[in-house]
Amino acid sequence: MDMDKISDEKPDIRSLNLEKLKALLEAMGEKGFRAGQIYEWLHKKEAQSFDEMTNISQGLKEKLKDRFCLKNLEAVKYLEDSEDGTFKYLFATDDGNIIESVFMSYEHGYSVCISSQVGCRMGCSFCASTIGGRVRDLTSGEMLEQVYMMQRLQGKRISNVVVMGSGEPFDNFDNFTAFYEMLTDKDGLNISGRNITVSTCGIIDKIRELADRKYALTLAISLHAPNDTLRKKIMPSANKYSIEGIMSACDYFFERTGRRITFEYSLMAGVNDSEECAKELSNLLKGRNCHVNLIPVNPVKERDYSRSRDTDIIRFKKILEKNKINVTIRRGLGKNIDAACGQLRRSYMEEKKFTGK
Ligand code: SAH
Repeated sequence: MDMDKISDEKPDIRSLNLEKLKALLEAMGEKGFRAGQIYEWLHKKEAQSFDEMTNISQGLKEKLKDRFCLKNLEAVKYLEDSEDGTFKYLFATDDGNIIESVFMSYEHGYSVCISSQVGCRMGCSFCASTIGGRVRDLTSGEMLEQVYMMQRLQGKRISNVVVMGSGEPFDNFDNFTAFYEMLTDKDGLNISGRNITVSTCGIIDKIRELADRKYALTLAISLHAPNDTLRKKIMPSANKYSIEGIMSACDYFFERTGRRITFEYSLMAGVNDSEECAKELSNLLKGRNCHVNLIPVNPVKERDYSRSRDTDIIRFKKILEKNKINVTIRRGLGKNIDAACGQLRRSYMEEKKFTGK
């Protein structure tokens, strides 16, 4: 049960699925149907306190407070990009950590990007989230609460969720899967798996495990290089997980779920944006049912990378297209507000002399 807790204290009630909540309530001598009522308050009505639960008796509310905790997030800062309606939020967890989440408006609806860990230990050389290492995993309840908070703050129904903020979701796999199951739960927000994307740096065994669970979500792989030699220079995880192994796990995922894979490729000037890289990437992906998302790198001040020139970005895209590979250049939402992974959190912590530990 460790995954339902932040420490050895009371279980966080928002991290419990309906079945677990029912079992715990029954063990307390309560009627099983109460679990449904409480679950609805937490996951449909986005309650932040037991006191809001008007159809629950005072006596039961007191028992719930004794037995469980409710880990809320507090919005400590937000920035709005008035040009495109993107909001970036910094939330404080109840133990004083800072995480970031993003709200985005698209033609087809509202989408949020959430974090899966406080910090990250994957060490990608271009990414701000990993600079202070991983502080801790987020619970499934804290992942859900990011979605619920933004829905509440914006007063808008969220239709898409991407797990692409700080952290490596497959390094926090049990909490991620619990989160996914509750987010898609008909008794909760009931978001379709098709509208959920999870991004990983390529943790092979977890890609296979996800495939076995037949989750109908979109899997995004952070590839960023067409061969292991270059990939190892920018992503330490490449020392453990080869591109060949990742590709075979992706093929397995496609076989089991029928879901097309997205490959993310952050373009860094003079590092991975050459004509040769584009050709090598084309050869790697040719014939695969996939999509490539080119992301002009968002320069991080602590890091030494710069954005590829527009002409190089276009050349890269054209080479992939010539090889009949689906490719888009990511719409740079939130450019004006430090929207790259972990940048806002870092600048906030510096400003507040926060260590995050
Ligand atoms: N750990 C997961 C998810 C978080 S990062 C993963 O590796 O996929 C989400 C995406 O943004 C990843 O593709 C990541 O490599 C990319 N990214 C991180 N920092 C970036 C930056 N400064 N510029 C462009 N892309 C970045």
